[in-house]
Amino acid sequence: MPEYQRAQKEYRKTNALSGRNKNPDHFDERRTHHLNEALRYSLKFLRLAEKNHGSNSDICCVAHQGLAGILWTARLREKTVYHMGVALKIAEKVYRMQTDGSSERIDQIRRQYDMYRTTTPSAECLELEDDVRAGLSRNSATRKCDASGCNQVEGVDGCTLMKCSKCASQRYCSPECQRAEWPNHKGQCKRIAAIAREMEADKGEQKRKNKEDKKFQRQLKGERP
Ligand SMILES: [Zn+2]
Ligand SMILES: [Zn+2]
Repeated sequence: MPEYQRAQKEYRKTNALSGRNKNPDHFDERRTHHLNEALRYSLKFLRLAEKNHGSNSDICCVAHQGLAGILWTARLREKTVYHMGVALKIAEKVYRMQTDGSSERIDQIRRQYDMYRTTTPSAECLELEDDVRAGLSRNSATRKCDASGCNQVEGVDGCTLMKCSKCASQRYCSPECQRAEWPNHKGQCKRIAAIAREMEADKGEQKRKNKEDKKFQRQLKGERP
């Protein structure tokens, strides 16, 4: 069994355990442990899927979705929205090219993404164990040129990948590759850029809310006799 499948199996086991205790009032020790474990395996699954299938693969979309689901249970909203956003971006790329039921799948992911964006979970969030926190903040693993038929990998033979300046989600080893891929990428580029803008706007909104919260707290303190 490939390593990432084993990781996925383990993750399912721990996720099932943490699911036994839905919507508790707080994260007790046992639940904290299971959720950290579920996140650990989910991250491992994602990294292995990236390594074996590339970061824009169907399986990575599933991995980001799975990770977002656990992050939501852990009430880590910002990270949830980020990973669901990435899943949506990949779905836009991967499923558009398929013929059967692909748009349904994208719609389903978009609904989930919108739900995560617009619902506010209760304030308490999971305490992350150190290695899990580090794993969640690490950037994506190795990437290859996104032009079909080109197999240049970043960092190999002096290859440096350049981002598509419009959507920042495709990367190419050369202007030639970017030009060659443009007819395939044109449509999705627009949609992905739109999703990226929404994600940015959300970040701004969150920052504004945090600022307001802090201001309110200060006012409260100031009004104390
Ligand atoms: Zn290339
Ligand atoms: Zn683009």
